[in-house]
Amino acid sequence: MPKDLFIHNTLTRKKEKFVPISGNEARLYTCGPTVYHYAHIGNLRTYVFEDLLVRALKRAGFGVKHVMNITDVGHLVSDGDDGEDKMEVGARKAGKTIWEIAEYYSKVFFSDLEKLNCLKPQIIPKATDHIPEMIELVQKLEAKGFVYKTGDGMYYDTSKFPAYPDFGRLDVENLEAGKRVAVGDKKSPTDFALWKFLPKDKKRQQEWDSPWGKGFPGWHIECSAMAMKYLGETFDLHCGGIDHVTVHHTNEIAQSEAATGHRYVNYWLHGEFLNEDSGKMSKSKGETLTLAVLEREGFTAMEYRFLLLQAHYRASIRFSFDAMKAAQAGYRGLVERLRALKDAPALAGEPSNAYQAYRNEFDKAVFDDLNLPQAIAILHGAVKSGDLSASEKKALALDFDGMLGLRLAEAMNVGEVDLPADVQALVSARDEARRTKQWAESDRLRGELVALGYAVEDTAKGTKVKKG
Ligand code: AMP
Ligand code: ZN
Repeated sequence: MPKDLFIHNTLTRKKEKFVPISGNEARLYTCGPTVYHYAHIGNLRTYVFEDLLVRALKRAGFGVKHVMNITDVGHLVSDGDDGEDKMEVGARKAGKTIWEIAEYYSKVFFSDLEKLNCLKPQIIPKATDHIPEMIELVQKLEAKGFVYKTGDGMYYDTSKFPAYPDFGRLDVENLEAGKRVAVGDKKSPTDFALWKFLPKDKKRQQEWDSPWGKGFPGWHIECSAMAMKYLGETFDLHCGGIDHVTVHHTNEIAQSEAATGHRYVNYWLHGEFLNEDSGKMSKSKGETLTLAVLEREGFTAMEYRFLLLQAHYRASIRFSFDAMKAAQAGYRGLVERLRALKDAPALAGEPSNAYQAYRNEFDKAVFDDLNLPQAIAILHGAVKSGDLSASEKKALALDFDGMLGLRLAEAMNVGEVDLPADVQALVSARDEARRTKQWAESDRLRGELVALGYAVEDTAKGTKVKKG
C-alpha cells in the first residue's frame, strides 16, 4: 500500500490526497521544452520541481509513468496565435534547419537534466512525430462544433465551452481584447488556433497536409494529443510552470474535455518562477542564463539543485549570484559533514527509535506537498544529531538522497566539491568545450589545470581532477 501523499491541486486550489485512477500507478504528463534555444535556469527550475514530484510519488510507493513532450513546432513567439514559430526563428538565426537545431537543443536539454540528476521520463514524444494524432483531435472537435475558420487558421470556439474560465479563474468578460492574445479575426480573445495555415508572406521549413489545407498545428493541441495518446483520455497528473495555468493548460482542458466529453486530468501541479533581479527571466532577452553559464561561474549543477530545494515549489525564487554562493557554501558544508561519515560501517540490525523518528519526519515533510525546505532541515538535523550513530546518519543521508537527488553518495567519495571555485570553473569550461567538440580549447584548459598542479582524467561523467 502506498503512503498518503498530499499535493496542491490547481484544479481545486486545495491540498488533496493523491489517489490514482488505476491501482498504484501514477500517470504523469509534464510540458517539455520548446527546443529553439537553450533552457534557462528558470525553465530548469520547473523540471527539477517535476523530478521532485516523480521522486516523491516513488518514495510513497507509486509506480510512475512519466511522459514529457518535445515541442519542435507550433509554439509562436507571442506564446499566442500571432507571430512566427519560435523554431523557424531559431533555425534562421542559427543558419540551420529546424531539425538540426531541434536535435542540438534537445541534446543540451537532456544533458542539463542529467547534470541536475533529474530522472528521465519513460516516454519523450516529439510534436512533429504526432501530427496525425493532432489532426484527428481537431477533426473530433470540428465534428462536435467547436471549431471555426479564420483567414489564418482553424480556431477553437471558447464560447462553446462554458467551463472555459474555471481552471484559470479567468474574468473573461473583462479580458481586454489584445491583452492576453490578439483578436485578429477571431470571435473572442480567448479563442485559440488549433491548426494554422501557411503564412502568405514567408516560406516555412515545416508544413503538413491537413483536411483544412497545408499548415502546422497550434501549440496547445500538441500536448493534448500526445498526453492522451500515451496516458489515456483521463490521467492522473499534469504539471508545468505557473505561467501555463491561464492559457496553455486552460486551453488543453477546453479542447481535451470538449473532444472526449469527460475529465482530462485529475491533479494539476504548477511550479512557481525563478526570477532574475531584472524581472521575469526570458530566453529572448539578452544573454540566456543557462546551467552552462552557472558552471562557467564556478558553480555545479548540484549546487543549483540545492538552491532550488531550499524554496518550496509554490514560492517564487529571486535568483542572484550571492544566493548561488550561499547555496554552494551550504551544499559544501553538508557534504563536508557527510564525508566524516564516509567510513562508518553499513547499518546492521534494528535501527534505533531516533533513526525511525528522523525518517518519519522526513517523509511527513515530503508527503506534505513536497516540503523540501523542511526535509533538508531534517537532514541537517540528523547529520548533527547526538542521538544517532555514524552508521545511522550515513544510512539516513543516503536514504534521504533518493528523494533529494543531491548525489550525496558520490559527493562523499570524490574530492570534486573541495575544488576552489576557479579550478571548478576550468573543469566546467573544459567539459563544455568537449561537449561542443572544441578540442583545441579543451587541450588548452587541460594545460591550465596541469599548470595549477592537477592531474586530469577524462571519464564518462566528464573531467575529473586530482591534486597530484
Ligand atoms: P518553454 O520552453 O518556454 O515552453 O518553457 C518550459 C517550462 O519552463 C514551462 O513549464 C514554463 O512554464 C517554465 N518556465 C518558463 N519560465 C520560467 C521561470 N522563469 N521559472 C520557472 N519556470 C519557468
Ligand atoms: Zn504543454
